[in-house]
Amino acid sequence: MSYVDEVLESVKKKNAAEPEFIQAVTEVLESIRVVVDENEEKYRKAALLERLVEPDRIITFRVPWTDDNGNVHVQRGYRVQFNNAIGPYKGGLRFHPSVYQGILKFLGFEQVFKNALTTLPIGGGKGGSDFDPHGKSDAEVMRFCQSFMTELYKYIGADVDVPAGDIGVGGREIGYLYGQYKRITTAYESILTGKGLTFGGSLIRTQATGYGLMYCTEEILKLNGKNMKDAVCAVSGAGNVAIYAIEKAQQLGAKVVTCSDSSGWIYDPDGIDVAVLKDVKEVKRARLTEYKAQRPNAEYHEGKGVWSVKCDYAFPCATQNELNLDDAKALVANGCQGVFEGANMPTTLEATKYLQESGLLFTPGKASNAGGVATSALEMSQNSERLSWTAEEVDSRLKSIMYGIADTMAASAEKYGMKGNYVAGANIAGFEKVAEAMLAQGIY
Ligand code: NDP
Repeated sequence: MSYVDEVLESVKKKNAAEPEFIQAVTEVLESIRVVVDENEEKYRKAALLERLVEPDRIITFRVPWTDDNGNVHVQRGYRVQFNNAIGPYKGGLRFHPSVYQGILKFLGFEQVFKNALTTLPIGGGKGGSDFDPHGKSDAEVMRFCQSFMTELYKYIGADVDVPAGDIGVGGREIGYLYGQYKRITTAYESILTGKGLTFGGSLIRTQATGYGLMYCTEEILKLNGKNMKDAVCAVSGAGNVAIYAIEKAQQLGAKVVTCSDSSGWIYDPDGIDVAVLKDVKEVKRARLTEYKAQRPNAEYHEGKGVWSVKCDYAFPCATQNELNLDDAKALVANGCQGVFEGANMPTTLEATKYLQESGLLFTPGKASNAGGVATSALEMSQNSERLSWTAEEVDSRLKSIMYGIADTMAASAEKYGMKGNYVAGANIAGFEKVAEAMLAQGIY
């Protein structure tokens, strides 16, 4: 049996209750097979793959908090410190009821390769809780964040582990978490990114993942003789990534006609009005029915359906496994020419395979959504030199990082005879960097 198959079999056995983690490992190991086969003896001797798929450590803790009526609730908190071969652990915190160890392991594993692709010195980690911020008051969210940080602060540090936001964790939550860290330690340190602009945050961090997705897409389209001008686009999600992806797509001349949340989705034939969407989601924290109320020409539909709309390019920006084989078939049947992931692993393995075999351009989230973590690393650099860069400077660095990622994954795919397979290109490029660092640092 090949080394890749052996390790995959063992991962499936050891992590049977964590399907998302198995899915992420399968995608990566399958696509680096050619590199592993070429270096099998060296990698086997160092048990490189076995070490790569096992997190450095997982910290689990109790998070008690009190609601506005005085009732006490207990949530579970986690930090998965996956791999620090090339820099301090870095990756977001997710607050969502679906969070359990398997979700955070898959996200931490993906983060290792994503962070390597940015060319910046950051390792991979992820954390979060099964806390659901929906419908909670600001005071409840604050008490939860304070309780979460009261445990987490022991395990993070500017040169150790630097969390950021993810689903359910935006500027408000990062502010509360940071306040509690300072309160406990008295230290004003760069232990979180995505901070507010008045206390060490970076300009463009809020926009970075969505903007970065579009910069990466622009470059991939260019390599394939296409562009965004007048393209009709379908976007899912209505959170941080989706909002700024829509904004940048429109700046590049595209028309985005959809967005969605966990209740339903919008089809706006005139193009999504980003100002209205921001008001609904960032200010009012309301449902998309509120968008429809402000835009009578738009349609609101309950449940799933974004991928049934006719579009040139699709951008899944909500959550994992939101685009399945049926969705992929609908996109292909409707003439879609490319799927570019904004969320982490939003496309199932079967759907990815179908899209690639149908000749669509396809970029994996670990490459195309790396703009967020890249700009987080730029925030760390600014904090270290106690300076703030202008929006133009951060944006231009983000752009060149994203163009670089697109070119790197294209080149890696081509080098191994898989031209246009950006999943393989991204995984190989990320893996080669981390593997080299791990081998150089001995067995640990
Ligand atoms: P937000 O919490 O800001 O927004 C998430 C959006 O997706 C919301 O519209 C939410 O709907 C919807 N959503 C979440 N879970 C589900 C679900 N189970 N079913 C249907 N819809 C769902 O998160 P982000 O925009 O930050 O993150 C979106 C994706 O991008 C995630 O995969 C995240 O890991 C990834 N990502 C984020 C980065 C960042 O910088 N923020 C960086 C890189 C990747 P509702 O409002 O109803 O909950």
